Amino acid sequence: MPPQREDCLFCSIARDGAWINKADGFVAINDINPLAPVHVLVLPERHVDTFRDIGEFDTGESKRMLEFVAQTAAKVGLTDYRVIVNVGPGGGQTIFHLHWHILGGRTFDHAVVG
Ligand code: AMP
Ligand code: ZN
Repeated sequence: MPPQREDCLFCSIARDGAWINKADGFVAINDINPLAPVHVLVLPERHVDTFRDIGEFDTGESKRMLEFVAQTAAKVGLTDYRVIVNVGPGGGQTIFHLHWHILGGRTFDHAVVG
């Protein structure tokens, strides 16, 4: 298991949670408070605070993480969907362990801000 934080909810979920998909270094879980018919979170097992720190991943890991996001969306039956990363409190981030939201199962407005 890569470096984790004792006091981090998503580190413990990455370790012991009810994943719906798993790859080397990454897991996907259902969001506990879904904002769409399908709302999945993809998280690295390794603790990284925010998307700002994306440079902590090497090129191969970054590529595999993005592919895992796409593969997870396909696995839960989505072809059309929205991928969001909230960055920092001002960006709506509430859990400070990097995660990608995959939202689908309904049609989204063209506007990105909601
Ligand atoms: P963010 O606001 O971008 O940091 O997203 C955090 C997300 O984590 C929110 O959509 C929450 O509903 C979700 N969340 C919080 N606790 C849990 C949990 N125990 N299991 C699954 N999702 C959670
Ligand atoms: Zn963590």
